[in-house]
Amino acid sequence: MFRVWMPDRLFPTYDAITVDFLKEEGIEALILDIDNTIAPYEVAEPDERALAWFADLKAAGIRASFVSNNHAPRAELFNHNLGLFVFADSKKPCGKNLRLAMEAMHSTAENTAVVGDQIFTDVWAGKRLGMRAYIVPPIKDKRTLFFRIKRLLEKPIMRAYRKKNKEELEG
Ligand SMILES: [Mg+2]
Repeated sequence: MFRVWMPDRLFPTYDAITVDFLKEEGIEALILDIDNTIAPYEVAEPDERALAWFADLKAAGIRASFVSNNHAPRAELFNHNLGLFVFADSKKPCGKNLRLAMEAMHSTAENTAVVGDQIFTDVWAGKRLGMRAYIVPPIKDKRTLFFRIKRLLEKPIMRAYRKKNKEELEG
């Protein structure tokens, strides 16, 4: 029942998603959330760690793009040293900009994964289009009521994810 909300894999941080893992999974292109996935809201540009991870992806020929719900100035400034495809004001879970990102990267739903920190925006958008979805815990959440409610709603899905994966591990 949770199929479109169920991440395929949970990672402790975005850079725990390695080139080797992506190759094994047949992933050739990534659609990345920015806020709370790669950097906290108030950090304007990628740090050394992020730059190193993007350099690894690039060296391996894995394409990447940003599809952010934040506004263009934020997304474009964050991207300006990376030069990825960038789509702002994306209104995820709307899939429109994910489709545009796939077109830009010449990728398909089968070889593209979405990476984000939110089930009801990032995961939902990607899974509806048939992509793999990888989730990371938010780097630093906004403490607004709206966000707290969203996180509360995510809990049963993450519980189901853990249960499913535990069963798979135990075979
Ligand atoms: Mg986010």
